[in-house]
Amino acid sequence: MTHHDPAALDALAAQFTVLDNPSPASDAKRAELIDKPAFGEVFSDNMARMTWHKEGGWSDRRIEPYAPLQLDPGASVLHYAQEIFEGLKAYRHADGSTWLFRPDANAQRFQDSARRLYLPVLPIDDFLGSVAALVQQDIQWVPGRREYTLYLRPFMFASESFLGVRAPNKVDYCVIASPSGPYFPGEIKPVSIWVETTYFRTGPGGTGFAKCGGNYAASLVGEYRGVEQGCEQVCFVDAATKTYLEELGGMNMMVVHRDGHVETPSLTGNILPGVTRRSLIQLMRDEGRDVVETMIVLDELLEQIASGEVTEVFACGTAAIVTPIGRFKSEDFDVTVGDGAPGKLTMALRNKLLGIQMGEIEDPHDWMWRVN
Ligand SMILES: *Cc1c(COP(=O)(O)O)cnc(C)c1O
Repeated sequence: MTHHDPAALDALAAQFTVLDNPSPASDAKRAELIDKPAFGEVFSDNMARMTWHKEGGWSDRRIEPYAPLQLDPGASVLHYAQEIFEGLKAYRHADGSTWLFRPDANAQRFQDSARRLYLPVLPIDDFLGSVAALVQQDIQWVPGRREYTLYLRPFMFASESFLGVRAPNKVDYCVIASPSGPYFPGEIKPVSIWVETTYFRTGPGGTGFAKCGGNYAASLVGEYRGVEQGCEQVCFVDAATKTYLEELGGMNMMVVHRDGHVETPSLTGNILPGVTRRSLIQLMRDEGRDVVETMIVLDELLEQIASGEVTEVFACGTAAIVTPIGRFKSEDFDVTVGDGAPGKLTMALRNKLLGIQMGEIEDPHDWMWRVN
């Protein structure tokens, strides 16, 4: 027996009416598409959808064929970026069953993001029901291979046609699904990080803790300054003092010290509170490891990497799970972490989390929700 009753999730999913899909992919086409997916390039047959009106609230719960959206060119989101999203995965276990990892945490965060963007709050049950209904409808799109998942992307945007700046009177909510392979294909190799100290993704009182498209738009200049320097990801420091490490463009960060304790940047409001971050902290504390949420001073970290006091650094998030960081570079420095190879704790945590998600090892905190 799991803690999360599959019948209860079924009941939430049943609130979504399944519309007829006249042209789903053929079995052969689908098999081809899910066999070699890159990240986020192909999409399943259907999507979940709901609409919100200021008068009347949320309505029209449905699963409809995946198709381009009809959007008025005056839709507020195209002008003022009132958009939030989530990211989670459906995992196929060896026995054929399909599961979600902590979807309640994503539902909660979606509400927090909505409040920050002055968008309507989606009930937790509708978030869970929409995701479950889509996965159940497109169950054959969940890949079976290890590290291959059906990536789920819930999102909400101001769809009302209006060029005045105010809270919208009409909002659309959708969930789309993309069969996806590993975020970084090939064997696990450490990524190199550009430390950006000129262009920031957010600042004090900004939208850093909200999962909104605007944060990503703001992160791209830094990302590409890094790419020009041969780096794969960008890491931001705090905009106010340029002193403290915050996170990558789309992943949180953790630092492993020689004595075994782990540090990760505190949730100051500038940082996205990752479900993966929170889960790894729990798993490490379960094993008695000291994990400290603190303000990590960039200059100190660089010294500690150089002296060997810091032995591993890794990034974490749903898409890439746990990814070793091998190098930090900026206009002023270029340092290699440890011997540049993936760290022991990094890989152990990666295997442990993936093991829980794939149903290979015990799930001590009831994180998994069965959908099918
Ligand atoms: C989504 C996201 C993360 C990771 O969050 P998870 O819940 O672990 O997937 C980290 N940073 C940013 C900026 C994000 O958007």
